[in-house]
Amino acid sequence: MQEKQTLVNIKNLYVEYHTNKGILGGKKTIHAVNGVSLDIHKGEILAIAGESGCGKSTLAKAMIQLEPAKSGEIIFDEKNTLKLDKNGLKDFRKQAQMVFQNPYASLNPKMKIIDILKEPLEINTDYSKEKIEEIVKEKIKLVGLDENCLDLFPHEFSGGQRQRIAIARALVLNPEFILADEPVSALDVSIQAQVINLLKELKEKYNLTIVLITHDMSVIQYLADRVAIMYLGEIVESGKTSDIFSSPLHPYTKALLSSVPQINNSGKKIILKGDLPSPANLPAGCKFHTRCPYVMGKCKECVPEEKGISHRVKCFLYE
Ligand code: SF4
Repeated sequence: MQEKQTLVNIKNLYVEYHTNKGILGGKKTIHAVNGVSLDIHKGEILAIAGESGCGKSTLAKAMIQLEPAKSGEIIFDEKNTLKLDKNGLKDFRKQAQMVFQNPYASLNPKMKIIDILKEPLEINTDYSKEKIEEIVKEKIKLVGLDENCLDLFPHEFSGGQRQRIAIARALVLNPEFILADEPVSALDVSIQAQVINLLKELKEKYNLTIVLITHDMSVIQYLADRVAIMYLGEIVESGKTSDIFSSPLHPYTKALLSSVPQINNSGKKIILKGDLPSPANLPAGCKFHTRCPYVMGKCKECVPEEKGISHRVKCFLYE
């Protein structure tokens, strides 16, 4: 079997925030991403899934340096992007673009669509005015909109159309790598499928590599080639989507999948006890032990290592 080419190689990445707004007023450190190592293959859609607050959006932002990393490496095109100088970072940002969750907030309401789409080209290239207009027209058609809409403002579009515009903006620099953070969760259910299908078409047509951040397991099942399950800033299970959905191993993954009626054939929902612990106060040992139905003595003290080859899991049940 041909080995997949790696586009992004993340090694032992940590992201922390510091805040003064604790309940008791003291300084707090939020451990948002805790030692994530992950390969992203060229031309794949890799989904990163988990509950709200698990660190998946922070991880995505750290990948394109919208959040500073505390330590670790992100290797893209054989360079550690965390060590790039100003020019290197500018080049990297042309290759890696983000589509945000809320197309209502991510498009400047005071700018016409044509100016929103031109802006990244004007900042990052020395193309002529004519070439920029040509690219803008090509990309707006690519996302299924008519070039007449270029003269309108964001408020004149529906949510689904705005997300198409946001995708067109992400594509104007011909990036190889797209990070889509909950790209359909702010949209009506009736139009979510259109945007999901658009991402799938674009990935196939241009061999794009997409990291999809989502809590929606049915979107993952439809769209993603591989999935990484995140809990309290760690990847606890990862592998091919078909393997994870047919044979989930980690108790957390099993609970996530059991809550989706279309996926859960047994109909038995696993209810986890308690809430997600605060990332300011991480549990010792396996971070999932406070909610795990299979918790053992050693889970409270020792950290399980990641095991497996194609389908990887971090849990003492599989040692
Ligand atoms: Fe549960 Fe222990 Fe596995 Fe953690 S290591 S998921 S607590 S069984």
